[in-house]
Amino acid sequence: MKKPSKTEAKKEIKEFFSNIKDKTPKQIKKIKKLAMKNNIALGNLRKKFCKKCFFPYKNPKIRIKNNTKSVTCENCGYVVRWRIK
Ligand SMILES: [Zn+2]
Repeated sequence: MKKPSKTEAKKEIKEFFSNIKDKTPKQIKKIKKLAMKNNIALGNLRKKFCKKCFFPYKNPKIRIKNNTKSVTCENCGYVVRWRIK
């Protein structure tokens, strides 16, 4: 099997995240592995799924306080906090 190039991997990742809500945690784990293997930074795309259980955020609980946004995963309850610039 031909190894996909970095450009192809990037395209695949972009397409994957355009309908992230239909994906399963297993598929997300796989695409993350693909990104890592090709040294592709996911950047903001990482914020589209729970880093603990890889469940795509569909309707997460979002709270904003003191320039920090906290998002609670609706699947496992894991809270992640991001700085808002
Ligand atoms: Zn989770």
